[in-house]
Amino acid sequence: MDERRRSTVRDLRRDNRSVLLWTLFANQPCSRQDLSEATGLSTASVSNVIRELISDGIVVEAGSVDSDGGRPRILLEMNPGRGYVAGVDVGETRVMVELFDLSMSVQARAQYALDPRVHNVDVVVHSIAAGLTKVLADSRIDPPAVLGVGVGVPGVVEQGSEVLVHGQAYGWDAVPLERLLQPVVDLPLFIDNGAKTMGQAELWFGAARQTRQAVVCLMGSGLGASIITGSPGRGGSSASVEWGHTTIELGGRSCRCGSRGCLEAYVGAEAILDRYGLAATGADEESALATLVSASTARAAEILNETALYLGAGIANLINLFGPERIILGGWAGLLLGERLLPAIREAARQHSLTHRFAQTSIELGSLGADAVALGAATLPMERFLNGVLTLREPASGDRAVG
Ligand SMILES: [Zn+2]
Repeated sequence: MDERRRSTVRDLRRDNRSVLLWTLFANQPCSRQDLSEATGLSTASVSNVIRELISDGIVVEAGSVDSDGGRPRILLEMNPGRGYVAGVDVGETRVMVELFDLSMSVQARAQYALDPRVHNVDVVVHSIAAGLTKVLADSRIDPPAVLGVGVGVPGVVEQGSEVLVHGQAYGWDAVPLERLLQPVVDLPLFIDNGAKTMGQAELWFGAARQTRQAVVCLMGSGLGASIITGSPGRGGSSASVEWGHTTIELGGRSCRCGSRGCLEAYVGAEAILDRYGLAATGADEESALATLVSASTARAAEILNETALYLGAGIANLINLFGPERIILGGWAGLLLGERLLPAIREAARQHSLTHRFAQTSIELGSLGADAVALGAATLPMERFLNGVLTLREPASGDRAVG
């Protein structure tokens, strides 16, 4: 066989392996027949690749189901303990680190509070390193079993020869986060915008599954959003937009970014508490907003109604600009506000958007809870593993799984 033909065969094998891994990951447990039907690959090709994946310990057999009149079908699933991925959420009020197995079940979690007024880079780097050490120790996992670490951060992430984070409202100016993390984290690193990683989590596992296009809104002290299209593994993508710094009122309240009248200066948690006359610090911002949301005073109602109006208008802008099938509100503040205000937010969005566009959009709460950014960050190394870009080291003798 000449070299070109040999490399084509090799590429084809790798493509088939990747297609089957993605399909199994999204539909597990399922049988070889199911995989053949879902991918269009012949049963012989599926059997060959699955044999290889079982031998590598990545896939295991998991019982069987009766098939109509035929032999029982053996079910397959990812071998959860064969490898791990870590996800980090660098937020306004905390750094959260989570470790997941190959089926994306969380194994351990560590969090460190941040002062939302100061986001010292050294403190964040130290918290990420300490968190990774802690989750590995708590789950008794050796670092080489971890495929990589995804990190979701606020602001614009420039993916050049050196990854730079431009978090203007966060107080970060061209921070070389990857270079700062490398000496303390000896694992492959993948850094991206937190709203984008949350969007990817909702696309893979949450409220954006099975949608053509969705906008995922991440609401904490500040605001971010991501536009997601397609489906995982089939050209699905997620791109972040600086929604929080779109102008909602000319010459309005001053924003942390230096401008005036930004949406974030009205409906970011910090801004809501400020409008309510309640200055909060640290993780207290979360309990202060919870107190406001559950308060029954006229003043609280007034602030919340105004918040729903601004937020609804901000969402209407997203609807008119992008015409998504679904808008998903998430982040700790988004979930907290949405629980009480969703009907009012929907009504304000309806009033401020074009009738036809609004009719084709649903506005929902995220379904993955407040740690969706960390889960989404962990999908960054996971997607590279499923694509065949990241590989696991050979299993030590004894921990090779048998179906
Ligand atoms: Zn701003």
